[in-house]
Amino acid sequence: MTQRIYLDYAATTPLCDEAREAMMPWLSREFGNPSSLYEEGRKAKEAIDAAREVVSSALGCLFGEVVFTSSGTEAANLALIGAAIAHKGERRRVLVSAAEHHCVVNARSLLERLGCAVEMIPVDEFARPLMPPVADDVLLVAAMHANNELGTVTDVASIARAAHESGALFLCDAVQTFPWLGDERWTVGDLAADLVCVSAHKLGGPKGVGALYIKAGTDVSPLALGGGQERELRAGTENVTAIVGFAAAVSASINDPEQGSRKAMARNAFRRALIEHETPKLHLLPEDVETLPGHLHLRFEGVSAESLLILLDRTGVSASAGAACSSGSIEPSHVLLACGWAEAAGEGVRFTFGASTSEEEAILAATRVADAAKSIALA
Ligand code: PLP
Repeated sequence: MTQRIYLDYAATTPLCDEAREAMMPWLSREFGNPSSLYEEGRKAKEAIDAAREVVSSALGCLFGEVVFTSSGTEAANLALIGAAIAHKGERRRVLVSAAEHHCVVNARSLLERLGCAVEMIPVDEFARPLMPPVADDVLLVAAMHANNELGTVTDVASIARAAHESGALFLCDAVQTFPWLGDERWTVGDLAADLVCVSAHKLGGPKGVGALYIKAGTDVSPLALGGGQERELRAGTENVTAIVGFAAAVSASINDPEQGSRKAMARNAFRRALIEHETPKLHLLPEDVETLPGHLHLRFEGVSAESLLILLDRTGVSASAGAACSSGSIEPSHVLLACGWAEAAGEGVRFTFGASTSEEEAILAATRVADAAKSIALA
């Protein structure tokens, strides 16, 4: 049987052992409702508090500044729409980098229904925002820490400064970088953000849980109304199991500072092997453009991403053409279009490597990719 090689860690990661172990009791004997006052409930509440302690300390913020959500998507929605509802004044413009994830870009229609004008910030060819001046009618500026498709890193602190100088809020989507940017740990202070969204399943935690950092004093309206959970910012009985798993994955990730270099080793081995195969018309990002260590974005001129990915799947390599939510209907990525790729936007393919991807796997995958690209180009 063909050995499958998973190279889509930016889409999701397998559950790490630490998260699985931490979650097991909450899938079996523990079941209390964290809002209940008796022992079972108190135990569940304590588990959430302990998880919030871990996540807030990893973000470098206060315990009460973290709101658990069902996903990175919900965290971004809560930030954007919650801020638009809470701020009813003169500020009705929202500036959003054109290369943001769908969870930010697609909030546009609802923001518009709330009376906000949403404007796209143009990006350079590597998806980094080209900030226009921020006028004093801007409510919020959104820019991501690292782009999920190209893996390129943005100097978000300078964007935050521009936003703050005009009195606007700054939202940073840090789903791809939490809790490491390469081999550096960052805090919300480094991002200078008022709002930061993160997600568990990108770092070895379970799917269906994320968090929003809301800087103390920042006004955000809840979107889910009901009980007073999450300091009345997100009603609904908490998913204790997932929250506990999220925190365990964060701790495990923090305890593994070498993960960035292991990912880079696999990524670099793949890149070198691909170049050695002398595949025609291979386009890679220039090496001096800062990317996440596990990311490699490329295209083969004239080879559609869709054909390549289908053939790769058949030969045992899992990769993607960008945001996972858009796979199944591979349309040219809005990120690549914003970067000015035009027709070539349908050719961009993303390979993302995990801390446990071996160099041997990476090299074998490169051979399969080169063979697939050659056979499509010759067909
Ligand atoms: N933001 C970025 C940059 C992402 O890559 C993703 C997931 O692909 C999300 C947000 C959404 O996170 P979730 O899958 O938890 O909804």
